[in-house]
Amino acid sequence: MSKQYVPIKKNDEIDVIFEDLTHDGKGVAKVDGYPLFVANALPGEKAKIKVSKLNKGYGFGRLIDLYEKSEFRIEPACPIFVECGGCQLQHLSYEGQLQAKEKQVRDVLERVGKLENVKVHPVFGMENPWHYRNKAQVPIGEHEGGLVGGFYKQRSHEIVDMEACLIQQEENDAVLQKVKSICGEFGVRAYNEKTHKGTLRHIMVRSGKVTGEIMVVLITRTPDIPNRRKLVERIVKEVPGIKSVVQNVNTKRTNVIFGEQTNVLWGEEFIFDYIGDVKFAISTRSFYQVNPEQTKVLYDKALEYAGLNGEETVIDAYCGIGTISLFLAQRAKKVYGVEIVPEAIEDARRNAELNGITNVEFEVGEAEKVIPRWYEQGVKADVLVVDPPRKGCDETLLQTIIEMKPEKVVYVSCNPATLARDLRVLEDGGYETVQVQPVDMFPQSVHVEAVALLQRRLSH
Ligand code: SAH
Repeated sequence: MSKQYVPIKKNDEIDVIFEDLTHDGKGVAKVDGYPLFVANALPGEKAKIKVSKLNKGYGFGRLIDLYEKSEFRIEPACPIFVECGGCQLQHLSYEGQLQAKEKQVRDVLERVGKLENVKVHPVFGMENPWHYRNKAQVPIGEHEGGLVGGFYKQRSHEIVDMEACLIQQEENDAVLQKVKSICGEFGVRAYNEKTHKGTLRHIMVRSGKVTGEIMVVLITRTPDIPNRRKLVERIVKEVPGIKSVVQNVNTKRTNVIFGEQTNVLWGEEFIFDYIGDVKFAISTRSFYQVNPEQTKVLYDKALEYAGLNGEETVIDAYCGIGTISLFLAQRAKKVYGVEIVPEAIEDARRNAELNGITNVEFEVGEAEKVIPRWYEQGVKADVLVVDPPRKGCDETLLQTIIEMKPEKVVYVSCNPATLARDLRVLEDGGYETVQVQPVDMFPQSVHVEAVALLQRRLSH
């Protein structure tokens, strides 16, 4: 069979059996080895599909008739599941989701990382995989004279109103509804992206899971908000737990949500929350994990894998606001954190101070530049933790790790494909992947987070 061979034609209607799920939640069926991706299909299902698009190595199809359903197929709990697109796996039972995520991690480690028989544990799921998000952020529009807020209909700029989001902490939804209706009452107009007129672009709500503290952020096109004083007074009066009302001004014609200027309209600049015993200050723009309950599970695992006894020097590359660093600092002699965003490092230093943690040092910069410099200056890590963005670790950083020879590397990953690629490099450089623990940070969505423990091989 030649590589160019495509066994089907566009608009063909064919019967298939789905074998797998893609990383974005589509079903995969193969015709003579040629893979077809189909939305809303699950592994094990038999269906008639219509071929809609053919590329060189793969194609797409649409589901026409489902003959045999997966035992894990369920009715999506959310009435706007299809329109919204924010969750991709609500048609798969939670048990099915966890199995699929475990398989995804194992398969990609084998296929991309060439790691046969690596120990991948069953995914740590949530007891209640709903209402976990601590941050809600919705675009605001107008419909029949009133304000609406929710989500953009898939592949459009139309804003659909949403009363409840099932993965949002319930109080966030209630606050959003209230703020939306108060703004409407005071005559605030929604931003219109076509005319670049109107005021309110987005509303964001952040809440502290442990503390119950609430921050409301109004993202506006102009510095002025009609009836601002009264409007803020009403929000403060009607939102229980409110600690902070903030305005962010975004004057630009852009679909980037935030602008440069942030003003506190009432209360504090921060709200607080805890992960385990560590207290964090969260500002409007701070990066903070959106699922605090599972974050604790993930960091506990990272800490366990680090296996600290109080004598170690630890490096936390890609440290963000210092969440993992501060967790590790409680058990290490010294922790160094590096992160590229200056504001995140300011937050990290503040968070260290807030917790009276003095054995950490943070630096702004690229991990692949700062860590080699530390190494030259004589900093030698016993344990190195990385938690890179989706694109994975920079190649230079991986080479520095291989030279520096920390006893252990703990790799926290939000993208199994780049995890697999990077583990291969570290394996070839003298490390052994001992075990991998996936953690479900984003139930109902296709995302999967995993933490891997690597140990330096004795012969290297
Ligand atoms: N460990 C943190 C943040 C992880 S997200 C936490 O759990 O909260 C990944 C972080 O890597 C982001 O904060 C991003 O700003 C940062 N980053 C991206 N590229 C980087 C680079 N080249 N060097 C250092 N940090 C980088």
